[in-house]
Amino acid sequence: MNKKPVYLEIDFDKCIGCRACTSSCPNGFIRLSETGRQRTIVFPESCGMDCQACVSACPEDAIRFARAQEYEEVRKNKEKQAERVISGSSEFELCFELVVCRKCKRPFATEKELKRVLEAIDAEISSSEYAWKGLCPSCRRDLLREREARAVLRVRKF
Ligand code: SF4
Ligand code: SF4
Repeated sequence: MNKKPVYLEIDFDKCIGCRACTSSCPNGFIRLSETGRQRTIVFPESCGMDCQACVSACPEDAIRFARAQEYEEVRKNKEKQAERVISGSSEFELCFELVVCRKCKRPFATEKELKRVLEAIDAEISSSEYAWKGLCPSCRRDLLREREARAVLRVRKF
């Protein structure tokens, strides 16, 4: 495996804060933290492993690896985005505000994630099926169970 440093370049406009990279990194180099309504994803500035698992996992093509000769370009891009990126000496982080579930009020997803999901399903589901919109996964499962229970009761013969 290539042990030379390769520099992570994140396209901050594309990143939706979905966490796929944090859960796919086998070495825990991309880290996640959630406090209250804030989700923070911490990226290392460089990675010597070059396994590309994070690149493959990212649904938005937001991660790219730059070689040493491209590093200055990567650094300039980060500086341009300084107001959105908190840079440390060897890592940088992106922060997202989380949307709260309209039922249980738990923070559960970023605005950009929800928008992406709705865009993906919009063409397939009519607006009348949007009872689950704004619900966290746990409340969505509850809704589905309630609907199934009601459907069973409707057809049951006592
Ligand atoms: S290349 Fe592999 S080890 Fe390096 S940050 Fe991405 S997932 Fe983690
Ligand atoms: S997988 Fe891509 S879109 Fe999701 S948090 Fe990581 S960089 Fe952002």
